[in-house]
Amino acid sequence: MNIACRFPGGKSKALTLSYDDGRIEDRKMVEIINRYGIKATFHINSGLLDKEGFIRSDEVKDLFDGHEISLHTLNHPFLTNIPTEQIIREVQDDRRNLEALAGYPIKGMSYPFGVYNDKIVDIFKTLGIVYSRTVHSTGTFDLPGDFLRLNPTIHHKQDLLKKTDDFLAINNDRVLHLFYVWGHSFEFEYDNNWDLLEDFCKKVGGKEQVWFATNIEIYRYLKALESLDFSEDTSLVYNPSCLDISLCVGDKIVEVGPGQLVNIF
Ligand SMILES: [Zn+2]
Repeated sequence: MNIACRFPGGKSKALTLSYDDGRIEDRKMVEIINRYGIKATFHINSGLLDKEGFIRSDEVKDLFDGHEISLHTLNHPFLTNIPTEQIIREVQDDRRNLEALAGYPIKGMSYPFGVYNDKIVDIFKTLGIVYSRTVHSTGTFDLPGDFLRLNPTIHHKQDLLKKTDDFLAINNDRVLHLFYVWGHSFEFEYDNNWDLLEDFCKKVGGKEQVWFATNIEIYRYLKALESLDFSEDTSLVYNPSCLDISLCVGDKIVEVGPGQLVNIF
C-alpha cells in the first residue's frame, strides 16, 4: 500500500506569508488578509515598537491574533558586523519582549537585511531558534531543506499573481507543495499597490486544496510528520505529537490523531 504525507485535512498544498519590521502598514495588511482567511507571520523588532511609523506595543497581541508573532532582532542590526555578545542580546531581548506581549513562546525569526553566516546560524541554534527566513527566493514550491536558512518562494514584487496561478495549477498530490511569500507591508503603501495584495487574496483565499498556515505551524506540522512511528510493514502508525496528522493511504485520506496508534490498512 502506498503511503504519502499530507498537510492537515488531506491537503497537499500550503500557503504562508512572512512580513517584516512591524510598521503601521501591518494594520491594513492584517485587515485585508483576515477577510480571506490567509495566515501570516509578522517579524517584529521590539526595540522599534512605539516609534514613529511602527506599531504600538499595546496593539501587538490583538492585531496579530490568529497569526504568528515572530522575531526580527531588537534593533534591526547587520548581524554579520556586530560582536557575538550583541547578537545574542539582539535575539534574546527581542524574544523576551515579544513573548511578554504575545503570551506564547516565540521560536521563529527572519534575518534583518537578509544577512547571515554559518556562525549566526550556530548561535541561533544554541538559542533555541527553530527557523529563520532569508531573502533568497527559490521560485519553487519545494519544502524547506534547512529551516535556519529558510528560503522563500518569492518576494511579492516577483510576479505574485502569476506565481499564484502556477501554484493553484499544480496537479500532483504525491508531493507536498509550499508557497512561501515574503515582503514588507509598507511596500504596498510606497508602491501604491494594495490592490495586488487584494487580488492575490481573492485568487487564493478559500481554496479548498490549500492549507493556510503561519510559518511556525508549518514547521511544527512537518516535524510532527517526521516524528511518526511506523511498523516495519507500515500497517501501523503511532503519532507521538499533539497534532492531527493526515496521510494518504492508497487512495484514501487517513487521519492519525495526537497520541493515537492506528491500523491504516
Ligand atoms: Zn527588516
